[in-house]
Amino acid sequence: MKTIYFDNNATTKVADEVFEEIKPYFCELYGNPSSMHTFGGQVGIKIREAREKAAALLGCDPAEIIFTGCGTESDNAAINGVLAAVPNKRKIITSRVEHPAVLSTCRELGNHGYTVVELGVDKQGRLDWGELEKQIDDDTALVTVMYANNETGVVFPVEQIAELVKSKGSVFHTDAVQVVGKIPLNLSKSNIDLLSLSGHKLHAPKGVGVLYVRKGTRLAPFMLGGHQEAGKRAGTENAPGIVGLGVACELAAKNITEENEKVKFLRDKLENAILEECPDSMLNGDKENRLPNTSNISFEFIEGEAILLMLDKFGICASSGSACTSGSLEPSHVLRAMGVPFTAAHGSIRFSLSRYNTEQEVDYTIEKMPEIVNRLRELSPFVAK
Ligand code: PLP
Repeated sequence: MKTIYFDNNATTKVADEVFEEIKPYFCELYGNPSSMHTFGGQVGIKIREAREKAAALLGCDPAEIIFTGCGTESDNAAINGVLAAVPNKRKIITSRVEHPAVLSTCRELGNHGYTVVELGVDKQGRLDWGELEKQIDDDTALVTVMYANNETGVVFPVEQIAELVKSKGSVFHTDAVQVVGKIPLNLSKSNIDLLSLSGHKLHAPKGVGVLYVRKGTRLAPFMLGGHQEAGKRAGTENAPGIVGLGVACELAAKNITEENEKVKFLRDKLENAILEECPDSMLNGDKENRLPNTSNISFEFIEGEAILLMLDKFGICASSGSACTSGSLEPSHVLRAMGVPFTAAHGSIRFSLSRYNTEQEVDYTIEKMPEIVNRLRELSPFVAK
């Protein structure tokens, strides 16, 4: 049975073009890019090229790119690095719907004397702008708000947030892990100070990420040791990962418009059919301001996990929230923050598509979903027989 993969917000397939390019960096071109010899130096050149490709996708200067180990590291480095650089300010503003990479980091800082404000969202997952305006003050070291939500795909108005934060003299970081490669960016024209991305969400390998740091932003290094990444992130570079990320950025820059159209068409077809064919189902999140690949749907009276298991039997991979929280019986913190009722939050499924999905896969899933939902409802103690 062929796997149908609708879990691309958890991780993505490494693109064939990326895989081909990185193979030699394991067993042939394995030199250390910091070495004096030509053997290592040629790897250093490839890392420089990858930096240029990442900068081209983000619309920034290559010197503003720091390679990291993953999106989580980029988030941690941004938050802790800014706070360490401005020790006189003690307040952090974030949102209640952040990925745990940001939320747990901020909450931990809260345990160490920082004031942490978690902004709420409305029923459609949109940020409470009034509260944000009210909360930014002279003590605010950092505002960190995600670009788009990994569970619902809802996109926040980060350019406007960045402008507001700048006007108040604070620093703005955004977790754009789900955005890069899906929404065109031009950081040279934006007021975003720091931005995180992760390779494995855009068809590069796992174990590589980027932290963009605008020139002039004060940031204490998070990882101490050697002089790699201009002294901002010590540790021998993951050369295959970085080279792969460069290729993935290049592919994304070239194909972003065309791919978004294709992915959005497939996502909409899947979503509309499910909402139509499955009674008591509803879309979670703002339908308009959304990533083109993500659909989060609640099915009343049944468990998301049960739906996932039945989808899995048909070879269909989806998710019931963020992969990092699966295994927990708590409903998603994002849906709870949006005020989605407990029963609906428990029965939520996220479908996240990529350029590798096909219309046949969508049609097959459309055929199976009503069957699965009806079967589970027949077994559900919550449905009147
Ligand atoms: N931020 C968001 C919004 C994410 O969706 C994820 C992963 O799902 C991360 C951060 C963490 O990225 P990584 O898996 O590269 O650590």
